[in-house]
Amino acid sequence: MEGDAARALVAEFSRPAVLRAVRAGLGGWRRAVLAGEPAGPFAAGPFLAEVRARLERERRPSLRRAINATGVVVHTNLGRAPLASEALAAMVEVGRGYASLEIDLATGRRGARVGGVEALLCLLTGAEAALAANNNAAAVLLALGALAAGGEVVVSRGELVEIGGSFRVPEIIRQGGAVLVEVGTTNKTRASDYERAIGPATRVLLKVHPSNYRITGFTAAPSHEELVAVARRHGLVVVEDLGSGTLVDTRRLGLPEEPTVQASVAAGVDLVTFSADKLLGGPQAGLVVGRAELVARLRAHPLMRAFRLDKLRLAALEATLRLYRDADGPPERVPVIAMLAQDGAVLRHKAERLANLLHGCEAVGLEVAEGIAFAGGGALPESELPTWTVAVQPLKQSVDDLAAALRRHEPPVIARVARGRLVLDVRTLAEPELAEAAQAVREALA
Ligand SMILES: *Cc1c(COP(=O)(O)O)cnc(C)c1O
Repeated sequence: MEGDAARALVAEFSRPAVLRAVRAGLGGWRRAVLAGEPAGPFAAGPFLAEVRARLERERRPSLRRAINATGVVVHTNLGRAPLASEALAAMVEVGRGYASLEIDLATGRRGARVGGVEALLCLLTGAEAALAANNNAAAVLLALGALAAGGEVVVSRGELVEIGGSFRVPEIIRQGGAVLVEVGTTNKTRASDYERAIGPATRVLLKVHPSNYRITGFTAAPSHEELVAVARRHGLVVVEDLGSGTLVDTRRLGLPEEPTVQASVAAGVDLVTFSADKLLGGPQAGLVVGRAELVARLRAHPLMRAFRLDKLRLAALEATLRLYRDADGPPERVPVIAMLAQDGAVLRHKAERLANLLHGCEAVGLEVAEGIAFAGGGALPESELPTWTVAVQPLKQSVDDLAAALRRHEPPVIARVARGRLVLDVRTLAEPELAEAAQAVREALA
């Protein structure tokens, strides 16, 4: 019997894996006995069950799909943007075999790395040139390293922000080999403040989108045009870290306005950097658009090689940008855009469906209610997006235990806890995930 069970494990998981798991299990049992814990007599059946559980845990990849029931659309801890099916298909197609990454198909010689992404970015933003790097942090570092190393970078005191714990504007400037010159005050900075700070060592006027942070009330900042005019008078360049950046007018999604990349380009900003996996809804990358001569300097910088994208992300990015090019209005084939565009009626309907799927399970309270969600990714930070939620109040366990059980579920479900209840926000649940999330809650409550 036990021999059969062990043989079945070996057939399913391979002999070395089973051996490792048996040794680890025996080690645990031995330690428990030595520590005087009540380990009981050794029994092969339960022991093999434990070995199987260990092997199954090991077989699961550590990076796996998760269900986002938080309502935060661009959730950095949950991998930011889910990709469009076109982007996924492009990655599979290019990743399966070889690809025309750096070959000139007309001559068969080595060519420039594919330029599809750059051409699309120029078309979509109106910029002269573009490049893609590993992420926006890399794009900013590259811009400062190429344009400001050995010189000074002027930044408003209101924009010396930290984003996501490790991207701190003063540190990026130092890493770029430049010296930070702060101007203005926390709440008010004028064009004349920039102008007065300019000296022979000044190279760049840097503008940073404060992303997850807002100064409100008695505030002032020069317009893009005013800043560009100051830079022109002194032969300097304006670099803008737009953070999330967006290519669509977010008001068309029923949301407040978020600055677009096109607007910065049109205002004369020399280089604009932004993330590809925030509101844009593509794979992780940092995009730079702007004047050709400056983009060429970034491209020639030694860090470019360290920051360049691989074929998989280039494929996904090109496919995502094509959806923007081919859409008449906001491209709803991009999941981030579709999730943001859902209106109240759609969200309410989804919440009611989720509540129906949960009906009769062991919760005291089950309530469909309007709630507040955030776009995430530092975009629209002040804007609370009205959304619809299902709140669950467990009967037999604490709400924190319920949330923990959902995280241990396969696939894990990540939800919010508010006022003693588990809150599932349907904005970030795709249609097929409603049933999956409901099943997970049922199992976690059982
Ligand atoms: C998010 C953000 C970054 C970092 O972008 P990554 O793509 O995560 O590297 C930098 N600057 C601003 C203003 C941001 O919002």
